[in-house]
Amino acid sequence: MRRTRNVKIVATLGPASSSYEMIRALHEAGTDVFRLNMSHGTHDDIAERHKVIRAVENDVGRPIGILADLQGPKLRVGPFANGSEDLEEGQAFRLDLEGKPGDATRVQLPHREIFEALEVGATLLVNDGKIRLRVEEHGPDYANCTVTVSGTISDRKGVNVPDVVLPLAALSEKDKIDLEFACELGVDWLALSFVQRAEDVFEARDLAKGRAALMSKIEKPAAVKAFDAILDASDGIMVARGDLGVECPISAVPPMQKRMVRKCRNAAKPVIVATQMLESMIESPIPTRAEVSDVAAAIYEGTDAVMLSAESAVGQYPTEAVATMNNVAIEVENDPTYRDVIDASRGGPKQSVADGIVSAAREIAETADIKVICCYSQSGSTASLVARERPHVPIIAMTSKLGTARRMALTWGLHCLKTDEVDRFKSAVLNSARAAVSEGFADPSDFLVVTAGVPFGKSGTTNILRVAPCDERLIIPADPE
Ligand code: PGA
Ligand code: MN
Repeated sequence: MRRTRNVKIVATLGPASSSYEMIRALHEAGTDVFRLNMSHGTHDDIAERHKVIRAVENDVGRPIGILADLQGPKLRVGPFANGSEDLEEGQAFRLDLEGKPGDATRVQLPHREIFEALEVGATLLVNDGKIRLRVEEHGPDYANCTVTVSGTISDRKGVNVPDVVLPLAALSEKDKIDLEFACELGVDWLALSFVQRAEDVFEARDLAKGRAALMSKIEKPAAVKAFDAILDASDGIMVARGDLGVECPISAVPPMQKRMVRKCRNAAKPVIVATQMLESMIESPIPTRAEVSDVAAAIYEGTDAVMLSAESAVGQYPTEAVATMNNVAIEVENDPTYRDVIDASRGGPKQSVADGIVSAAREIAETADIKVICCYSQSGSTASLVARERPHVPIIAMTSKLGTARRMALTWGLHCLKTDEVDRFKSAVLNSARAAVSEGFADPSDFLVVTAGVPFGKSGTTNILRVAPCDERLIIPADPE
């Protein structure tokens, strides 16, 4: 199965999307990467969803990416006896460390450090900033507040404290346990929440030990300031607009998004634009015009992926939401303006052999009626560089490592394939030609561009570019290597 768009779709799984049928339907509707949110659900739930995704992957025969999103030092209230409560403006509401379920007068906030750091008069923002609480009085294990903006509070909603610098470690004890659990399951990406500095990423890298790629979620003012160093330390970025829009002025989020998307493309690292993209589809089969425009805008900017959160995790229309993103992506990518914008924002060539090769691959493919560019690589680094070029022709990323194929499912334009290991360039060309035809990208009478690095198995050696026929019978006698 091949997609007819380049931008990728990430869908978060949850109670609305945990069955085999639903996960398969979400994949068929366009989901390339599934997100498992470690803030919700037990390890058993996560393991079960992981197993189902792998079963779907096996049945459809296409690599699927799995992203485990660590909660990070995000503050969340505990559960409520009734699931939720309506808080009215002016009423008192207490946060404390007690384990019993919440009611209309109090709920648990299981973070001792926050009570110690709070100040009288500080604002607590609950549920993406929808509810505001003012701290009237606090002790080491409680805070008595007044509701200043009313709303519905429910199980495990997030709490932001923009006025107070909280002394929080990058990875909580829960995160460390979840990280190990997710790595053992075999997820492809780990998302780190509330990253504040590059060191936070190094800490996670020490624990992940290469078992998963690391994505930093940018959702704190500190992370925006330290963005360049964080990008350098990470394998990918998520523009986490939910918390970012609570912690920073909401009007500053769109320009931040644009800057981050551009920098990620330049660095050839995948970026996800996330949160509230089709929020109204949680309850409605039809999105708002503004939401459709938001998805389109992110695609015009050149993002690698767009993401669904509650829409697919707890919404009533998960497959419709994915299909909407898919349709928007196809419309945008067929618009000549999209090509103009993407071409105009391509960074200049960098000074390396690999950069020269990928730039040439795009130019040859676009000049000579080539149907597809095939990148042979172990680590996926060449394929990422080709994706950064945003060529007009499709890209097949061939790798002998299944983990690489799954991880690259997130990257713009890459049709990832797991293939046999090869030791000669000729075999790589042969496999590429076969794949181009069998995957529906070319006819035997067409030509393709193949890039690779020899010797094989050594990453960072991109050094070959070959224009080859897609008809494998013509390759064998023509190519002596
Ligand atoms: P979350 O992250 O959904 O885990 O909060 C995304 C965001 O904040 O936008
Ligand atoms: Mn967040």
